[in-house]
Amino acid sequence: MAFTLPALPYAHDALEPYISAKTIEFHYGKHHQAYVNNVNALIPGTPFENASLEEIVCKADGGIFNNGAQVYNHTFYFEQFIPDGCREPIDALKDAIDKEFGSFDAFKEQFTKAAATLFGSGWAWLVKDGNGKLSIVQTSNAGCPLRDGLTPLLTCDVWEHAYYLDKQNLRPKYIEDFWKILDWKVISKRFA
Ligand code: MN
Repeated sequence: MAFTLPALPYAHDALEPYISAKTIEFHYGKHHQAYVNNVNALIPGTPFENASLEEIVCKADGGIFNNGAQVYNHTFYFEQFIPDGCREPIDALKDAIDKEFGSFDAFKEQFTKAAATLFGSGWAWLVKDGNGKLSIVQTSNAGCPLRDGLTPLLTCDVWEHAYYLDKQNLRPKYIEDFWKILDWKVISKRFA
């Protein structure tokens, strides 16, 4: 089954000044597209030829895992942004964050630290386990919490390609701006 690059739910310049059109052009238009092309080139003739992206994330290894998981992770990342929208958790997720972390601000502080301290390339995630309990996890490279039986709710891509054109080496500035474009309606729905 060939995968396709999903359309973005906003214009390429819609997240400016926090994420530039130039970054979207490269991060989405080149990097995300390349992961799609790579996984499509790798799966023919393998047991994953007709697999879903989730099956690839949970069971594949090597290049098929790396590229398939990066397609999953990037789709998940890009669909959680909105130019103007709800900037705080709502509904059951709001209550769960308050319960687990004490407050939204305390959660933001912990998540920011996880994203800032991840060494090298990878992702910071808010996840829930089978009992609905929240936690913050880090994954390296293409790592995805689905593989560990966790449900991803929110992610921050801290590969340098996510911010280098706009922020150069200043990952903390990228993370600070990340909070200003999140769509908490979409994220809260993932928890429900
Ligand atoms: Mn990326």
